[in-house]
Amino acid sequence: MLRLEEDLVGLIDVIAGTRPNLVKAAAVLRALKRHNVRDVRFVYTSQHYDSDLFTDFKSQLDIPNPDVVFTKPVAAESVFADVFDQYGALLRSGPKPAVSIVFGDVTSTLACALVARYAHVPVAHVEAGLRSYNWGMPEEINRVAVDSLATIAFVTSESAYQNLAGQDNFGERIYLVGNTMIDTLLASGFVPPHDRSRQRTNGSRSRLVCTFHRPENVDDSRRLGAIIELIQDLDRHYDITFPVHPRTSRHIERLGLFLPPRVAVAPLPYFDFVSQISDATAVLTDSGGVSEETTFFGVPCLTVRSETERPETVGLGTNVLVGEDLGRIPELLDQILAGNWKRGSMPPLWDGQAGNRIVEILHQHGYTK
Ligand code: UDP
Repeated sequence: MLRLEEDLVGLIDVIAGTRPNLVKAAAVLRALKRHNVRDVRFVYTSQHYDSDLFTDFKSQLDIPNPDVVFTKPVAAESVFADVFDQYGALLRSGPKPAVSIVFGDVTSTLACALVARYAHVPVAHVEAGLRSYNWGMPEEINRVAVDSLATIAFVTSESAYQNLAGQDNFGERIYLVGNTMIDTLLASGFVPPHDRSRQRTNGSRSRLVCTFHRPENVDDSRRLGAIIELIQDLDRHYDITFPVHPRTSRHIERLGLFLPPRVAVAPLPYFDFVSQISDATAVLTDSGGVSEETTFFGVPCLTVRSETERPETVGLGTNVLVGEDLGRIPELLDQILAGNWKRGSMPPLWDGQAGNRIVEILHQHGYTK
């Protein structure tokens, strides 16, 4: 017989399976440990399965071994079905958790939120309420769907709070807790600069870090070709590190495009990547998480997209949306080199305490023992 929400006190499922969500889950797992909550089941969905990457992340982020590891989805198209089946089987074989904590906006987040709700398990969504209002992005579809399934929303910002306020399923259960990615930066020993105005030239050539993985940039051959051409041009003036995401790498190969080996590197372990962006002159990216990390470091960020679901990184932080026109980028970089860039400030509650706030709220709701 299905147990009702009130009866489910004890086990907490923490579910993650992609690079950015491991960074967020690490903060919650650490906070649960700090609060002596022992009945935790860490479920790794293997959506981004790469054993080296996972091993590096696990040791660098101090993540425990997962209690459950799903088999790697057989193809990108089957992530939803494979994760849905495996989490469903886990909940059917019992024990059922008091709450399932899911993160961000990836497909396995949605699959697990749906399974949990079918099984009458409450769902807590970390990084809820973000909206790009671009329905062409699979992540936007996932965000809206997960938020409509969630029983508790943990949001990183006031704008995310407002996006959910009044949504029926939450009642009073929307909490502005801050940003778990910032928790993990601080727990890893990274510190924001004291002087956010310092000009970022370090002797010889200025340094750029690039990451691109969004379908709108890398699946379209003309667009990807233009990005690679831009990077080849910039390579004449800057030292560039471009850790190439597997999706991007596949398309570069398919199209026979070329990046100099000194520029293109494999995806970096977390600590190495964050160290690189922390003292870059600027970062060129289409990543959401990276635009938050550059805001933390006060490093200028050029987001190669037309919109962002993280408006605080633009309004308060160091991020600028480049939009469609890649031709603007050399000009914007000149501006950065001239020291003519906003200094940025940290959004409220991005202070390293988000994980603690989440655990305290779970406790208030009676989900932890
Ligand atoms: N990251 C990393 N190595 C890399 C590139 C990124 O560890 O080579 C980290 C980065 O610091 C951030 C997260 O991965 O914490 C961002 O992931 P991604 O850009 O894949 O996802 P998004 O944030 O766009 O959802």
